[in-house]
Amino acid sequence: EPGFDSVLAMFSATVRAHPDRTAVTYFDGRLTYRELDELSDGLAAHLAANGLHPGDRLAVYLQNVPQFVIALLAGWKAGAIVVPLNPMYRIRELTKILGDARPTAIVCSEQGWHEVVGDCAPRAGVGLAVTTSELDLQTRHDARLFGTLRRRPAEGCADLLEVARAHAGQRPEVPEPAPSDTALLVYTSGTSGEPKGATNTHGNLVFNAVGFKTRTSDLDGAGIFALAPLFHITGMVCQLCSAFALAGRLDLAYRFEPGVVLDALAEHRPAYLIGPSTAYVALTNHPDVSADHFASLELVYSGGAPLPSAVVEDFRARYGHYIHNGYGLTETTATATSVPAHLEAPVDQASGTLSVGLPTFNAVLRIVDDTGADLPVGEVGEIVVEGPMVVPAYWNKPEETARGLRGGRLHTGDVGFMDEQGWFYVVDRKKDMISASGFKVWPREVEDVLYGHPAVREVAVVGVPDAYRGETVRAYVSLRAGHDCTPEELIGYCKEQLAAYKYPRGIEVLDELPKTATGKILRRQLRDTARTGHQEGTR
Ligand code: ATP
Repeated sequence: EPGFDSVLAMFSATVRAHPDRTAVTYFDGRLTYRELDELSDGLAAHLAANGLHPGDRLAVYLQNVPQFVIALLAGWKAGAIVVPLNPMYRIRELTKILGDARPTAIVCSEQGWHEVVGDCAPRAGVGLAVTTSELDLQTRHDARLFGTLRRRPAEGCADLLEVARAHAGQRPEVPEPAPSDTALLVYTSGTSGEPKGATNTHGNLVFNAVGFKTRTSDLDGAGIFALAPLFHITGMVCQLCSAFALAGRLDLAYRFEPGVVLDALAEHRPAYLIGPSTAYVALTNHPDVSADHFASLELVYSGGAPLPSAVVEDFRARYGHYIHNGYGLTETTATATSVPAHLEAPVDQASGTLSVGLPTFNAVLRIVDDTGADLPVGEVGEIVVEGPMVVPAYWNKPEETARGLRGGRLHTGDVGFMDEQGWFYVVDRKKDMISASGFKVWPREVEDVLYGHPAVREVAVVGVPDAYRGETVRAYVSLRAGHDCTPEELIGYCKEQLAAYKYPRGIEVLDELPKTATGKILRRQLRDTARTGHQEGTR
């Protein structure tokens, strides 16, 4: 039993117990729990007075800034469903999501309004807008992050901090959220298709936030640095909700920019870090990095994307910290399995895959075949998850709900297995399987091998059509600074460690691999380029 009906109730309890603790930092700016409470009351009052009703949607289109946290709490205080939107989305992408979510109101930056939101939100029927200057709560890093950006208040929009201050402490009178009420509408980033809105409930969120707290009881009041964006479920739950669960501090730094993140780590000295493995690779490869940047850390997690075991070993060798793996989806409200804080995950000897951990409290994971029947220990099949962290439905999508969330069981589309001790392994996404000469090749196994090469920074493996083999294995790699290596050498390296049908027949070296805003490598985009034969930045 979580003990709270919602993360909002949990937040309010912390406000009462520790009003003067720092809740959020942003470079030189900080907000205490009391200030955050009062400002979010004020914004909620403004939104409620101007037509945001309980059950309505409030869209939030912001980077990792304190105003994101104010807007989220304000939405919940007004009884609304918050729709976090990727601030990298442009008009085409946003129009699609707004058309599906039909928000009553939107909160965005002034720049976001001028470039994107002002064009598409009114056309999608969003009648109420609040904008904010993302500079308001910080000073020192302006020049580096924002270049020549200047304040340009948006016409017809209210200013977030102005209205929040004007109505501070005047929380609207709407019922407290119940566990079964929808808290968020989170659109999956669509690395594998059309975006779908997952309806994460207040119960889903508070369950995983409390689960995190019970796993990390010694981190009470600790600082969590936000490597992942807050609009994504990993950032929202494992950073923001977890910080509230610990009555701790959330350190924000606009967006992931390795040099800026290193400075912020040195300044705020957080205890806890979570982000995708690509964030650790980027920090480790930055010219200014030193062990001191990570000296304050007590616990390090990676989540939301595959974690190659070579990345874990490299980070430990350099900085003495073990990266704990965690697995989940938007539909499991972030975490479904994790490596307990005091343990290290086993590596599967046959494939070299690092385990994603053990099911978190009350999560039930099954491995099933194509008919949905349970498979025995060690056998590879689709991962199905059920438990109090699984969303009840997709927004407006009864067919997808019936297909993907049958009877409260989430069919993840991921393929994996469980070992004798109950540890889970994600082999790959079902759709990414390569069929080379009729043999199954899982791109991640080939990627894990390439990550072991000293010159390799990042890798993505895809299948490309081949007249002779049906499909053939192709790898895209980026190299570590100061290293050079030819595709032939890398192919030779793979050949030594992989069966003949698995090693890449072609390797292309790119300066950077394409990624989503959450740091996931976009295999699908590379597969498409491999098929059309064109890629910029190739050498
Ligand atoms: P879409 O579902 O539209 O393709 P998405 O990548 O945005 O997009 P998310 O819910 O963000 O969807 O990500 C969940 C997926 O991320 C999982 O299904 C799994 O494939 C992958 N994933 C998450 N954590 C791990 C992990 N620790 N190891 C391997 N894969 C992981």
